[in-house]
This record gives sequence, C-alpha cells and structure tokens, in this order.
Amino acid sequence: MTVIVAGGGIAGMTMALTCHELDIPVVVHESVDPLQPLGVGINLQPNAVRELFDLGLERQLEEIGVPAKEWALVGRNGNDVWAEPRGRDAGYLWPQYSIHRGRLQMLLYEEVVKRLGSSAVVTGSRLTGYGSGDGIIRASFQNLASDTNIVEGAVLVGADGLHSAARKQMYPNEGPPVWGGPVMWRGTSEAVPIRTGASFVLVGKLEQRFVCYPITRPNPTTGLATINWIAEITYDTSEDWGDSDWNRQVAVEKFLPFFEDWAFDWLDVPELIRGASAVYEYPMVDRDPVDSWVDDRCVLIGDAAHVMYPVGSNGASQAIVDARMLGAAMKEHGTNVTALKSYEGSVLQDLNELVLRNRGAGPVGILGIVEERCGGVFDNIEDVIPRSEIEEYMARYKTAAGFAVETLNNSPKTIQF
Ligand SMILES: Cc1cc2nc3c(=O)[nH]c(=O)nc-3n(C[C@H](O)[C@H](O)[C@H](O)COP(=O)(O)OP(=O)(O)OC[C@H]3O[C@@H](n4cnc5c(N)ncnc54)[C@H](O)[C@@H]3O)c2cc1C
Repeated sequence: MTVIVAGGGIAGMTMALTCHELDIPVVVHESVDPLQPLGVGINLQPNAVRELFDLGLERQLEEIGVPAKEWALVGRNGNDVWAEPRGRDAGYLWPQYSIHRGRLQMLLYEEVVKRLGSSAVVTGSRLTGYGSGDGIIRASFQNLASDTNIVEGAVLVGADGLHSAARKQMYPNEGPPVWGGPVMWRGTSEAVPIRTGASFVLVGKLEQRFVCYPITRPNPTTGLATINWIAEITYDTSEDWGDSDWNRQVAVEKFLPFFEDWAFDWLDVPELIRGASAVYEYPMVDRDPVDSWVDDRCVLIGDAAHVMYPVGSNGASQAIVDARMLGAAMKEHGTNVTALKSYEGSVLQDLNELVLRNRGAGPVGILGIVEERCGGVFDNIEDVIPRSEIEEYMARYKTAAGFAVETLNNSPKTIQF
C-alpha cells in the first residue's frame, strides 16, 4: 500500500524520491499551490549531500549549489576567532553545499515529478488529521475549496514542518513553538564573495551577529555572486514578535541601525543589508523535545519531529537524513509500525540532544566563551582560548550533528542494495 507524505518540503520530497528508489508507492500532499522557490540560503552538510548523491542528484546539486570551502567566526573587532576548512577541503568524501532553499526544494520537486509522474505530488492539499485501524491509516486532507478528501495508505509520514498538523494531533496540548529571544533578518544581495570566495562567515557576538556566505558562483563578467546574509539580535523574551513565519517581509530600517557601523575593509555589513531586494524576519524558534514521533501508523520527520535553531546548518540536512533513515527502516521491515519505530529508535535521542545543543548556540557557542573570558575584545585569540579547546568544541558538535569526518567517511551507505 501507499506511503502518504504530508508536506512537500525538503524532508517530504526526499522521502518521495527514497520510496521510489525502494519501489514503494508514495504520494506527497503539499498544502501550498503552486509550489514556489521560497526562503533564502541554507547549508547542506556532507552527511545530507551523501544521501542526495546516492539518489543520483550529484550533477543537479553541483549546478545550483556552491561547494563551501570555509567556516569562520570573527570577533566584532574584525579579528578571527576560528576558521576551518569545510566540505571536501576538510577531508569529507562529499562537499558541503551553500544553496538557495527554494531552488533546492524545486529541484527535489522536479525530480519527483520526473521520476514518479505528476500525480505523485498533490498541491493545495493540507493535512488536517488522521486515524488508523484495520492495518491502514486514513489521512484527511483539505483542498483549496475546503473540501475534505480521505486518503488511505500503509503509513502517514508527517513532513509538514514547523507548524505540523500531524504533530499537533500527536501532542494536542503542546502549544506554539518556543521562542528564546533571537530574531533573524534574512536576505540576499549581489556582492563580491569574501575570503576564500566560498566562506561561511559569522561576525560579532552571541547577542548580535551577522552571517554571510555566497549561494551562487560569481558572475564571470562582474565578479558578483548572490550573497545570503542573516542579521541577528537577541531580545528579552517578554517582547512580542508574533508568530514564526518564514515568509514575513519587513523593511531594512527595522534593524539596519543596529549594524550601521559594522563596516570593515573586507566586509561592509550595512551595504550588504541595503543591497537586498527583500528582507524576511523570523523570530528563531524550536520545540521542546518529545519522547516519540510515532503514533500508530503515523511518523514525524524533519522539522515536524525536531525543529531546531538554525545555528549549526543542520535543519535541512537532518530532514534529508531522516527521510533516508526512514527509507532504510522500510526496506528492512516493510511499510509498517515496526519500520516507523525502528527509524525513531535510531535517531530520536541524538536529535533531541541536538535540539537542546542548538538552543545553547551550537557551534557559535564559542563566541560565548570568548565573551566570558575577554568581553569579546582581543588581539590574538590564542591569548583567550587555545586552539585545541576550539578544536575539541567543534569536534563534539560535528559528532552530535552526525557529520564527524572520519565517522561519516567510513560509515556504510544508509540504504544498501
Ligand atoms: C517557505 C519556507 C521558507 C523557508 N526558508 C528558510 C530559510 O530561508 N532558511 C532556513 O534555514 N530555513 C528555512 N525554512 C525551513 C527549512 O526549509 C527547514 O528547516 C528544513 O528544510 C527542514 O525541512 P522540512 O521538510 O522538515 O520542513 P519545510 O521545508 O518547512 O517543509 C514543510 C512543508 O510542509 C508543508 N506543509 C505545512 N503544513 C502542511 C499540512 N498541514 N499539510 C500538507 N503540507 C503542509 C509546507 O508548505 C512545506 O512545504 C523555510 C521553510 C519554509 C516552509
């Protein structure tokens, strides 16, 4: 019987491609109609890229992604706190890609339609609830005319993101996502890429920071690339920033004054901010971890299961890995509750810990240590924090997030034939 997927985002589309690879019938129901390439830049870690390469998407990713070369933390005074190579430059067998989220989603969508046919994705179809019995699941979807359709299948995969309806039915008293104070403003601007030309650079301190990295290759004539940037400030949680919505557009004047004097000879933050055609505001939220993502024949993956602060570049990466892990479990056990439980057992505890680790700033937490020790002002970082301490901190994070280089390079394929 069919696997029903609710949500045609990164997790849902990867699930569909994985089911197809396994010869399992699958249909994706996506609430939005038509799908559009929304969002700005994200990073795909090598553990996720490996999975997409296994799905035969190497050429397509290379076309739309930029292989990241460096990850750097820079103090407010412009001095380096830490810089390390990334992707293949760091010894991984797969690249790390900086990529436009919407283009990635459309790439996956187009591949689903190409491989499975257009009937595999039903747009304008919003999950409203589910019930199971007699060895099947019945999922209710509402279309744009507000008609309800009941769809029967073997299992329901809730890949419906931050405000998941599947999760809401599992945890009716959970309430909205939790906001801990940080607010992000995101945009893209055309500029010459800095440092290696493919560097992820974070400047500032924990409570006020700026991130930028290119998500296209430079135009050979102008040298300009599309630079994804994120300005972030942490506020008192008593302030009201409204609901978390990835598409809330605001004017730059709302936050530009806080970054007006952030101009270095190698990076002009206010100029980058002013160069954006659209800016999106997002109060950074997550959800408290839960004990289970399985309710009979329904299972959660991606943000529906473990939405986390986007500080370690692993939200989309983990959504992809989840879909592959669930696919591996279905290959072993069939499309049944045993498979759902097996997937949950293999990832839930580690990811619940990662959610909390990212709440504590994830890899960016090094800036907190620097602030504690010197107020964020230093000439030589070695006087503040030894290199070995940062190395250990970063290694712990990569292990927790599933992309420690040696472990990943030596681990068998998630789905083996
Ligand atoms: C419009 C949008 C823009 C984003 N922009 C960014 C960004 O710029 N930077 C960043 O770091 N992250 C962004 N994200 C989040 C990022 O995509 C996810 O954190 C990550 O990719 C995990 O993927 P996911 O598939 O679990 O969730 P998502 O990618 O959020 O996908 C969930 C999908 O489910 C659909 N959906 C929701 N409710 C229902 C329902 N009841 N029934 C059926 N379908 C439903 C949504 O329309 C969406 O397509 C964005 C998400 C969205 C939806």
